[in-house]
Amino acid sequence: MPIKQVNAFTVDVEDYFHVAALSSAVSRESWSLRESRVERNTERLMGVLAEQDVHATFFVLGWVAERIPALVRRIADAGHEIACHGYSHRLVYTQTPSEFREETVRAKRTLEDTIGLAVSGYRAASFSVTRNSLWALDTLIDLGFSYDSSIFPIHHDLYGLPGATPEPHRVSAPSGRTLAEFPMSTASLLSLHIPVSGGGYFRILPYWLTRTGLKQINARRHRPFAFYLHPWELDPAQPRISVGAFSRFRHYTNLSRCEARLRRLLAEFSFTCMYEVLQERGLLSAERSSPMRQLLPIATGPFVPGRLPAG
Ligand SMILES: [Zn+2]
Repeated sequence: MPIKQVNAFTVDVEDYFHVAALSSAVSRESWSLRESRVERNTERLMGVLAEQDVHATFFVLGWVAERIPALVRRIADAGHEIACHGYSHRLVYTQTPSEFREETVRAKRTLEDTIGLAVSGYRAASFSVTRNSLWALDTLIDLGFSYDSSIFPIHHDLYGLPGATPEPHRVSAPSGRTLAEFPMSTASLLSLHIPVSGGGYFRILPYWLTRTGLKQINARRHRPFAFYLHPWELDPAQPRISVGAFSRFRHYTNLSRCEARLRRLLAEFSFTCMYEVLQERGLLSAERSSPMRQLLPIATGPFVPGRLPAG
């Protein structure tokens, strides 16, 4: 029996060579020369979600959306929410505010032009909204995003905002304006603060640990959690990139077990897209159109393009 609380299932749509942990061995110039596997891996992930009738949020990298717009349309046509994962997968705190604004505008416009719907959600590459890049929240508000999901309340070498509010809330940007924030989930187990929200943690930690942590968030704290996965995490046959032992461990551990684990997770917990969970919690204003195509009336609303088929 799934647990009653409905959680947010999210996917960061990028290829195996975009990952920050491999960036020391993969130049940006080589991206377009590498075998792209994001399309088939995303389809595979969508297939697993469809088995349980789960509608999720797909944070799509602008670089991918520009090259494979048909994939973005297929995700939206399947009833999932399209959200923005930036353009270049550069960490936010390595960009200047004007670089960040420019690439985020490019990514958001590409996605919106591709699906003909407004994009409401944003997730930074490697959760890189940290103490040093909180200014990015103001940029997201300026650009019309209604929520962010880039804050990870842990200590980590690449990201993390230790002590940040762990539940969905309205976060204050430096200007004082606010934005809905769905942080990545952590659980307190064995007096440790354990990230249980997906990705490498989901693949590397034993499943029972993730499950216990997530149940704790739902049942004891009565909160929804945010879960995330990358399409390449279901692809054990992806080309191996030569990196140091720690990055190898992070990226390649348990790839062949991930799909079966995911099926178990989807059977044991309830999920929907992030926008709906935030709306349910009263953190998004009700008058905005839903970013999910199936919920929009076909002939009305500001973002419905003429090319949508009726029905
Ligand atoms: Zn990413």
